[in-house]
Amino acid sequence: MLPPQPEMLRRLVATSSVSSPDARFDQSNRDVVELIAEWAAELGFVVRIEAVPGVEGKVNLIATLGEGVDGFVLSGHTDTVPYNAERWTDDPLELTERDGKLYGLGTADMKGFFAAALHASARFEPGQLRRPVTLLGTADEESTMAGARALAEKGENLGRYAIIGEPTNLAPIRRHKGVFYVRVTVGGKAGHASNPALGVNAIEGLQRVLVALQAWRDGLEGRYRDDDFEVAAPTLNFGRVAGGDSPNRICDECTLDIDMRLLPGMVADEVLVELRDQVTTALDGGPWSFDVRPTGNYAAFSGPADADFRSTVETLCGCSAKTALFGTEAPYLAQLGLETLVLGAGDIRVAHQPDEYVTIAEIERATDLYADLIRRYCTDTT
Ligand SMILES: [Zn+2]
Repeated sequence: MLPPQPEMLRRLVATSSVSSPDARFDQSNRDVVELIAEWAAELGFVVRIEAVPGVEGKVNLIATLGEGVDGFVLSGHTDTVPYNAERWTDDPLELTERDGKLYGLGTADMKGFFAAALHASARFEPGQLRRPVTLLGTADEESTMAGARALAEKGENLGRYAIIGEPTNLAPIRRHKGVFYVRVTVGGKAGHASNPALGVNAIEGLQRVLVALQAWRDGLEGRYRDDDFEVAAPTLNFGRVAGGDSPNRICDECTLDIDMRLLPGMVADEVLVELRDQVTTALDGGPWSFDVRPTGNYAAFSGPADADFRSTVETLCGCSAKTALFGTEAPYLAQLGLETLVLGAGDIRVAHQPDEYVTIAEIERATDLYADLIRRYCTDTT
């Protein structure tokens, strides 16, 4: 017997699984995967825990109930973002219930999903299933998407249809933008501030780059547009500038970190070539050196191709599929040939923040929706 959903979520939240590019916060997700695996095994799932190549301590869960091909996949990430415990009303790792809401780190994004997916699966006997249900639990979605990338790389056929249970307030998401990070480094030469001839100021080089990139951004907004999205144009944000150490020294190196949100159909490599050309032209004839390199690339998503899947999910949810401005693992599942939609309990606006919560009512509704989809796609009854 599975524990009731709040008890499951209590144990999932208490099993911390932070992922972060900052090694001071990064943790293994193995304990939380083992916990989910234990419950899945109790339901008759055949469970595999696979190490993510090249990432110490990180694992993916692949659990399958029933046999056959063309099955249905329920997918979620097992990690959470880091947290500031002092900014929470209660301990973020201790599930707290108030007014029908379950508060805790990862309740909405997205440990609540596993409680919903497991309870939905529990409504079926393996013998009832004509096609399999596969539960995926991935590593490092919040940092590098290494878990989903590893699955895509391996290329295993996991089924035909997939739902990713990210928090969407139970409205299906069929498209989202991509996220592309680029770092521009401008090199100069240090020297005493009293004599500019002694050095090359990297900040002054970066200033030219900023002006050029702003003009380029305006052009991009004119060239690309997709009115499906709340923000219809691709965006470019100057997120961080760092350089120099003292007013009396000529700055010898300056870096700029850029966040770009690309529309489906835009190719990051092509955007990078354009961006590099802009930097080259801006610094042309000057004394600076420079480097332009991508520091993160999370693909945009546009799916599913299968109109029947989309309309089935829309009918069950009672609303049409929408677009989102946040990234997910959907492009990696799509690479595996899975017709994918994003649909889960909880509100993305409370994710990644103190006092994150999910309502019990939405977890229960998600459970019913997932069970309906399993019935539709894995059994002969409709
Ligand atoms: Zn998430």
